[in-house]
Amino acid sequence: MKKTGIAILGSTGSIGTQALDVISRHRDMYDVELLTANNNASLLIEQALEFDANAVVICNEEKYDTVKKGLDGSGTKVFAGIGSVCDLMSMESIGTVVAAMVGFSGLRPTVAAIKAGKRIALANKETLVAGGPVISGLAKRHGNNIIPVDSEHSAIFQCLQGECSPIEKIILTASGGPFLNTPAEKMANASVSEALNHPRWKMGAKVTIDSADMMNKGFEMIEAKWLFDMAPEKIEIIVHPQSVIHSMVQFEDGAVMAQLGSPDMRIPIQYALAYPERPYLNTERIDFGKLASMSFLKPDRQKFPAIDIAYHAIRKGGNMPCIMNAANEIAVDAFLRERIRFGQITEIIGETMAAVKHLPVPTLEDIFLSDEEAAGFAKNLVMTKY
Ligand code: MG
Repeated sequence: MKKTGIAILGSTGSIGTQALDVISRHRDMYDVELLTANNNASLLIEQALEFDANAVVICNEEKYDTVKKGLDGSGTKVFAGIGSVCDLMSMESIGTVVAAMVGFSGLRPTVAAIKAGKRIALANKETLVAGGPVISGLAKRHGNNIIPVDSEHSAIFQCLQGECSPIEKIILTASGGPFLNTPAEKMANASVSEALNHPRWKMGAKVTIDSADMMNKGFEMIEAKWLFDMAPEKIEIIVHPQSVIHSMVQFEDGAVMAQLGSPDMRIPIQYALAYPERPYLNTERIDFGKLASMSFLKPDRQKFPAIDIAYHAIRKGGNMPCIMNAANEIAVDAFLRERIRFGQITEIIGETMAAVKHLPVPTLEDIFLSDEEAAGFAKNLVMTKY
């Protein structure tokens, strides 16, 4: 069997390391062609040596010498800077690109990978949240080969296999995060370590904070809109604290398909890499005899205003989700540095969305400019007002 060449953008992060774990179990199926990291030079070097990567990119150019020295004599080519990541997307030996960079910075390389006609295992949700209007058209023109890695969208994608009938409703499940049962007032003043303490999923810091105020679920609603061509009002968010059902699809006959599994990101990662096959994976199996109950409840939209902010942004459309995303990145960063309170994250997002110019039909360049403008506005808010 011919091996598939894999590029992992963001290989030292949570999704990246788990993708390499999957690959390490199927060395007969995959070759690591390219690994890229933002800052973590030592882990990037270690990974490149272990997987005999063809090439690596360290995005922080100041660390080029460290990586170059670390891989001296290994045969791995070393590049630096985000521009190199984009350039290398056209490497012939790459079949699948795991887009697992954090935040808006994942947009440019993902666009390059789509244009190069690669299969995209998409973990970077900000790409679709901010760039949706442009990305969806671009993907359609280039073979529409995006397979979602986000557990909810992977679940929906799996539920749709073999179906050809219209979807009546998508039901996105949410764990509810660490503050599901915390009073609103207490949540507004939560500490960084409380917000990082997710009850179900082990993830990177950015997405964990996004999960704590449910902005993440708002992002995922927008991601689902673009991936499955669904009107936002046909996407329902439901809290399911056990995180056993990863999402559901309801059809026009009233039947509902659900995908279940232990909360282990390696399942959707491997599914995106191996689709349509399902190789063996050593994940924990659900023991239905021990599963006492599965519960569901409507999210508290007063306590979690991020959900309504996201619906508002996608209804406005154009660059509004991009503005929301940019403000969120700045606000989450400020919260992690303890510059603002937890409850102020959504306040900053709301203020930025009200201030930055709305463009109903943005180009890709407009998206980059809107991101810059919104980030600048939000940074200024953090510095002057909070
Ligand atoms: Mg998710």
